[in-house]
Amino acid sequence: MQFCLDFDYAAVCIFIILLIFYYFRNQLELLQNKFFLYLTVISFIATVADIVYGYFQNMSDAERVLVSRPLIWAVNVVYYVVNMMITPLFTMYAAALVNFFDVAKGSEKRTFRLLVITPFVFAETAIILTPFLSQWVTLAFTLTETNFYVRGTTCFYALYGITFYYILLAFAMIYRYRKTLATGKKIILLSFVFFSFGGSVFQIFFPDVLIQCFSVALSVLVFSYNIEQTGMLVDGVTNLYNQQAFNMITTRQIRLNTHITVIGVYIDDMFFLSSTYDQEHLDKINGEIGVFLKKQFPKTLIYHLNMGQFCLVFEDADPRQIEKAVFQIRTRFHQQWTAEEAHILLYSRLCVIACPEEAQSTAEISDILHLVANDERYKSALIYARNIDIAYRRRTITLEHVLKNALSENKFEVYFQPIYSTAQKRLIGAEALIRLRDDEGNFISPEEFIPIAEKTGVILRAGEFVFDTVCRTLARINLERYGIEKIDINLSVTQCMQEILAEQIMSIQAVYQIPSRILDFEITETATAYTPEILLRNMQTLADNGVELSLDDYGSGYSNMNYMLNLPFKLIKLDKEIVWKAFSNNKASIALASTIQMIKALGMLVLAEGIETSEQADWLSRLGVDYFQGYFYGRPMPTDDFLELMKISTEEYYKVNGLTFSDEALAEDKKNFSEADDVEELEEAEELEELDEDGEVIPAAEKTEEKEVPESPSDPDEPEELEELEELESPEE
Ligand code: C2E
Ligand code: MG
Ligand code: MG
Repeated sequence: MQFCLDFDYAAVCIFIILLIFYYFRNQLELLQNKFFLYLTVISFIATVADIVYGYFQNMSDAERVLVSRPLIWAVNVVYYVVNMMITPLFTMYAAALVNFFDVAKGSEKRTFRLLVITPFVFAETAIILTPFLSQWVTLAFTLTETNFYVRGTTCFYALYGITFYYILLAFAMIYRYRKTLATGKKIILLSFVFFSFGGSVFQIFFPDVLIQCFSVALSVLVFSYNIEQTGMLVDGVTNLYNQQAFNMITTRQIRLNTHITVIGVYIDDMFFLSSTYDQEHLDKINGEIGVFLKKQFPKTLIYHLNMGQFCLVFEDADPRQIEKAVFQIRTRFHQQWTAEEAHILLYSRLCVIACPEEAQSTAEISDILHLVANDERYKSALIYARNIDIAYRRRTITLEHVLKNALSENKFEVYFQPIYSTAQKRLIGAEALIRLRDDEGNFISPEEFIPIAEKTGVILRAGEFVFDTVCRTLARINLERYGIEKIDINLSVTQCMQEILAEQIMSIQAVYQIPSRILDFEITETATAYTPEILLRNMQTLADNGVELSLDDYGSGYSNMNYMLNLPFKLIKLDKEIVWKAFSNNKASIALASTIQMIKALGMLVLAEGIETSEQADWLSRLGVDYFQGYFYGRPMPTDDFLELMKISTEEYYKVNGLTFSDEALAEDKKNFSEADDVEELEEAEELEELDEDGEVIPAAEKTEEKEVPESPSDPDEPEELEELEELESPEE
C-alpha cells in the first residue's frame, strides 16, 4: 500500500505561510491569539511527523528494516503526541473566543479544566507507553518486524474517540455561548468541527490517504481569517491598537490582577489643528507620534484611543520606570513634529493612572482619561490620577451623560436676560442664555456644563439650538411692539473654530428672515486666543452681513488688547467681576473708569454686566457705559416672561414719551396675539377639558380675565420699578 502524502505537503505549505503571516502581523496579547499560535505550531509539527511517517511507510520492507527502529517508534510517537494536542487546543481556542475564561465562574472553569485535562493525560500516557509496552500489548499502534506501522488493537479507536470527544466539547462550548458569538465567528468555529470530524472519519476508512493534517490546516486557515479580524483592533493611521483593543486587553489584565500603570498622552492642539490642517496632515502627525512611542517603548502596549489621544499601558512597572517614561515623552514633545512641509510644535499633557490603586476597572480608567481630556481643571502638563477629585469626576460623567441626550430629550431651553440702554433709559433687548435641566428638572449652571459641552462637541448643536430658538421667537413677534432692538447670542470657542459657522448662522437667519441689525454675537476672550484666521474669517463674514460683534467677559482673564483692536467688535462687555471689584476697591474703580474711557475713545460701545444695585448703575452710567445687564434689571427668564416684560416696559416708554406705535406694529401685534390666544385657548381647553356641551372650546376671554396682569411701572426710568415688576416673573429665584 502506497500512502498519498500530497495533502500533507499542501498542509505544510499552509502552516508555513500562516506562521510567517502571524509573525509579521500586529498581534494582540489575547488568549485566543495564543491558542491560535499553539494550534498552528502543533499542527505543523504533526504534519511534518506525518510526512516522515508516510515516507517510512512507503519504503519497501527491505529498505525500512535498515532504518533505525527506535527512530520509527519516535516519529510515530511524536506524531501521535502532537496530533493528540490539536483538538484539546481547538477546544481551548473556542473557549477563549467565547471569552469563557473571563466570564465563567470559578467552579465552571475548574470543571472545564478537568474535562479537558483528564482524557488528554490518559491519551498522552497511552501514546508514550506504546513503544515500551509493545511486547505485551499494542496500545496506540505497533510496528511489524519490517518496521511497518500498524494500528493498535487496544487504544487506537479510544484515541479517535477522545478526538471526537474534544470536538463535541468544543461544540458544546460554542453552543452554550452562541449568543456572545457573532454569526461569522460561529461559522468559523463550526468549520473546524466539520473539517476535523470529516478528516478523522475519512482517515479511518482510507488510511492510505493522509488527509487529517490537511483538514486541520484548512480550519486553521479559516481561523486565521478570524484572527485577521483583530485588524479591526488596530488603528489604521498609527498602526497602534485602538480603543476596542484597549478595552479588551485592559479588562483582561485587570481580571488577572496584573498591576498596570496607564499613561494617557493628550495632544490638545489636535482638535484645533483639525481646523487648520487637512486630514492627511493630521494623520501624518498622529502617525509620527505613534512611531515615536513604539520605538521608545517597544515592550509596552500602546493605544491610539482618539484623535490626539494616546495611551501606554505598562505591566508591573516600578515608579522610577514610569517617571523615566514620562520624562522621555515630555522631552520629545519639546521638539517639533513634521507633516510634509509643516513643522509643528505640539503641546502635550500626560496623565498617570496606577491600577488597581486608582482605578479598578477599564471603565474607571476610561473615565479618568476622558475627564482629564475634557476638563478645564486638569490643564497642567502632568496629572496624577491620585490627585483627581473623585466626586467631581462622577459629576462630570453625569453631566456628559445629560448633555449627550439633552437635545433629543428637550432638556435645553433658552432664557433671556434683559439689557438696559442708558441712552434710551429703557430695556432694549436681551442676552439669550442657554439653560439645561438634569433628570430631576433642576438647573445645571452653564458655567459647569458649557466647558464639557465644548470639549464633547455638544456645544455645536446646542449653539445651533439657541440661535434657532432665538430666531423662531423673534420671527413670531413684531419687534417694534416689544421694543426689541438687540439680542445677544453667545458663541463658544468651539463654534468659532468651525469654518462654516458664519454660513450656518446666516442660513438660519435667512430662514426666519431676521434683520441683521438686531443680532449681536458675543465672543469671549479665550475664543480669540485660538486659530485667529478662522475666527477672523467668520467674524468678518458676520460683520459684513451687518450683525454686531461683542467681546464678552472683558477683563475676566488675560486681556489681549490686540484682539480688541484687530477684530471687528462694536461692543465690549465688561465682566461682572471687574464691575463688582470696582465697588470694593479704589484702585480697581480707577482702572475700570479708565478702561471704559479707553473703549469709548476707540469708538466702541460698553456694556457692564452684573449690575445688581442702583448705585452701580448710577456710577457706571456717569462713566458713560451704554448698556447694563444684571439682576437689577432682570434675571434670565423664559421667553414668555421676557416678552411680557418687554411689552409692558415698551408701552410705558411710548406713553411717557408721547410716542405711538406704527400701524404695522399694531396690526402685527393684534395678529400675533390673536394667534397666540388661539393656541393658548386650545391648550388650556385641552388641559382642563373645558369644552361646552357641543364640544366647542369655551372662549378664552372668559378665562383670561382671571389672569393676573402685572401693573405697569409708573416711571420706566426708575429701575427699581422694573425690578419690582420683574419679580413677578423672576423664574430663577
Ligand atoms: P455670560 O455670557 O457672561 O452671561 C452672563 C452671565 O452672568 C449669565 O450667567 C447671567 O445669568 C449672569 N449674570 C448676569 N447678571 C448678573 C448679576 O447681576 N449677578 C450675577 N451674579 N450674575 C449675573 P449664566 O447664564 O450662568 O451663563 C454663564 C455663562 O455661560 C455665560 O456668561 C456664557 O459665557 C455661557 N453661556 C450661557 N449661555 C450660552 C450659550 O447659549 N452659548 C454659549 N456658547 N455660552 C453660553
Ligand atoms: Mg455672554
Ligand atoms: Mg459675559
